[in-house]
Amino acid sequence: MSVDPSREGRASGATRPHFRQVALIGIGLIGSSLARVLRREKLADRIVACARSESTRSKAMELGLADAVTADPAEAARGADLVVLCTPLGAYADVMAAAGPVLAPGAIVTDVGSAKVCVLRDVAPHLPKGVHLVPAHPVAGTEYSGPEAGFAELFEGRWCILTPDAGADDAAVETVAAMWRRAGSRVERMDAKHHDLVLAVTSHLPHLIAYNIVGTAADLETVTESEVIKYSAGGFRDFTRIAASDPVMWRDIFLANREAVLEMLGRFNEDLARLQRAIRWGDGETLRDLFTRTRRIRREIIDSGQAGPPQEKPR
Ligand code: NAP
Repeated sequence: MSVDPSREGRASGATRPHFRQVALIGIGLIGSSLARVLRREKLADRIVACARSESTRSKAMELGLADAVTADPAEAARGADLVVLCTPLGAYADVMAAAGPVLAPGAIVTDVGSAKVCVLRDVAPHLPKGVHLVPAHPVAGTEYSGPEAGFAELFEGRWCILTPDAGADDAAVETVAAMWRRAGSRVERMDAKHHDLVLAVTSHLPHLIAYNIVGTAADLETVTESEVIKYSAGGFRDFTRIAASDPVMWRDIFLANREAVLEMLGRFNEDLARLQRAIRWGDGETLRDLFTRTRRIRREIIDSGQAGPPQEKPR
């Protein structure tokens, strides 16, 4: 692979990396969106996609996302100068145990997973000498899954966080960063542990709360299910969208980022108890102060261009 700084990128000054063969292990929402970017930007001579099910593999071919498909991660990785893990986090160790040994020195392994400490733990031990690991997390997504759900604009204007360890190869890090810039993303480098803490509060905890509140409503005996659906516009509807996210992917995220999520959950519970007390004692000032502060945060998110609307696409 190479990075050609002389060619203008999508954003002014962005370089265009070029790969002989990209192996996309997993070709769902994120893998297929990246495949579409690789095609649009002409970053790869050849794309090989790996998925477990025949239906996903044939859909990937039908959509023109890959030049070849396989169920075997090693077959996809053989000859690849870039391997991108786009499966749920729980599959990484097995996938890399199979694919790692066939990689040639100079190849880059990256991923798109939503937790990052676990990537160093599960992937690094399977890499031959001279193969570079550059973990990445595009902070972009929808609640949909599968190759049909992807679209090339998914990463546009979104952050992509790279978490290589301190000794990582600078050129490999820059190549992965350049690929994400071509996808329209803004790239930031971060320590993996810090990433997991930040994402625990900005993404993982909100999903846990959504899963929990939708579960609570579904279990209520005094409110009927039809009432829950009928009056869902009162706030519940937004939670149901988040709680529709892929069950396997989110199971793996909570298991992988256990420590950071538990720490943030502890703080959340303390703050919730404070609100509970304020409501019990009629302390309107505490409630209004908090709601004023949170409204300001929403405005800051809008001003920074990160508010959405959620970049959804119907299946
Ligand atoms: P997805 O749409 O469900 O796709 C997952 C893909 O992985 C499918 O092609 C699946 O193949 C394949 N796969 C699963 N286990 C495999 C295995 N053992 N070997 C080979 N292929 C396997 O998932 P996604 O939403 O793209 O998420 C993928 C990753 O992106 C996750 O690690 C997630 O943390 C991260 N991420 C997701 C979002 C989001 O909003 N969705 C955002 C940022 C990052 P089959 O169809 O054949 O099972």
